[in-house]
Amino acid sequence: MVVRLGGYARISLDKDGEELGVERQRMDYMQAAAARPGWLVAEHYVDNDLSAWKRNVKRPEFERLVSDLESGAIDGVITYDLDRFTRQPRELERLVDLYEANPKLVFATIVGDIDLSSSDGRTMARVMVAFANKASADTGRRVARKHRELADNGKNGGGFPAFGWKEDRITVDPTQAALITKAHEDLLAGSRLATIVREWQAKGVQTSRGTGSPISRTAVKTILRNPRLAGFRAVKGQIHYGTDGQPVRGEWEPICAPDRLEAVSAVLDGISDRYKGRTKNGTNAYRYLLTGILRCALCGTRMLPNARSSWSEGSKGSAFTYRCPVVSDGGCGKVARAGEPVDAHVVNLIHEAEGRLSAPPEADKIWTGESRLAEAEQERSELLAAKAAKKISMGTLIALLEPLEAELEELKRDRAAHAVKVAQAANPSLIEEFERLPLERQRAVIMKHVKAVMVSPAGRGARKFNPDLLEVVWAA
Ligand SMILES: [Zn+2]
Repeated sequence: MVVRLGGYARISLDKDGEELGVERQRMDYMQAAAARPGWLVAEHYVDNDLSAWKRNVKRPEFERLVSDLESGAIDGVITYDLDRFTRQPRELERLVDLYEANPKLVFATIVGDIDLSSSDGRTMARVMVAFANKASADTGRRVARKHRELADNGKNGGGFPAFGWKEDRITVDPTQAALITKAHEDLLAGSRLATIVREWQAKGVQTSRGTGSPISRTAVKTILRNPRLAGFRAVKGQIHYGTDGQPVRGEWEPICAPDRLEAVSAVLDGISDRYKGRTKNGTNAYRYLLTGILRCALCGTRMLPNARSSWSEGSKGSAFTYRCPVVSDGGCGKVARAGEPVDAHVVNLIHEAEGRLSAPPEADKIWTGESRLAEAEQERSELLAAKAAKKISMGTLIALLEPLEAELEELKRDRAAHAVKVAQAANPSLIEEFERLPLERQRAVIMKHVKAVMVSPAGRGARKFNPDLLEVVWAA
């Protein structure tokens, strides 16, 4: 009688243990089978680089083997050892069920450690798998602990070097750092993230992983707000706090200051309310210079742009109009104005204003909350230390920590908003540069000076642009 066996081999990723090549495993079980009369290896099953103990890892060849056992396509299994075959108690139980239901099934290992066809063998297998599973889980915990230790000490983790640093993960890469610095400045000056993404794509910028495809918006965003930039050690994109409750500083050269990073994150989070309420649909995309800035002088409603569908290059008149929305949309619908002359007029006014308006006073550049922030952070550290020294209970800690952390949050938000304001004030909006700026930057420059432009009705039949019908409400 011929016993048709399924030979199973597996390589795992475990780089520490001694690796037993698949070929070697196969040779061994072929030899062992040949030594037994009637045994024939009818099919080979090989799983590559797949862990036998992690629950969520599916091993396709293992699954195929189990289903062949079930269907009777094979009469048993031969493998190097039980450890190679399974380390998952759940998987073992599936096999135990099969072997209990069909006592004729054969189970053989080269090292002869286990035989699932006997009741004693099954008990033994359960114990061995339980231990192997625990050993593997311990390894997993050791690896996690190692990662935490690295993070606590501000050491670099594994993986690709972060964008902005050289291969050693310590030294700044000047080209990449310059891209980051410029992007930060542009963002704070009012550029949209989409504009920066397009610029980087046009330059062929790649992440250190370098897939060859254009860099994604998500990747750019992650790069620009990476806590590493300000020298903070991050875990999964979040600043890592040490046992003393303070952010852990990394061993590498920083690319920007912490308050710059905070301001940029605030902008990316949309905390900055520069554009808030400026569009009807709440999006940040502007195609017209003065959307949200022009208001109807009769009812005060923000005027909306309206493209002339019949307009094409060479047509007479303006390509679009700004109009007060109709009554059902919250306006009075009584005022409309050709777009281009209004845009040009307001830009001229801004250029004049650039000349006479002075820069904000120096004192405004200093954020007044710094000492309170340092104090609050000190208080927080002391509380955590007191808890660690068992001087206060967990309940007391939480009670004291909650309001303090709320205050810290508020202070940091305030500092970020202040940094955004300072960066915008410092934004050079020289006249000759204006025309070359992307639309959203032009809008930011305008909004720096102008709160609104009120548009009065032109009267029936008035065709000619009349600047006297525009009244500028200047910002402070
Ligand atoms: Zn109106």
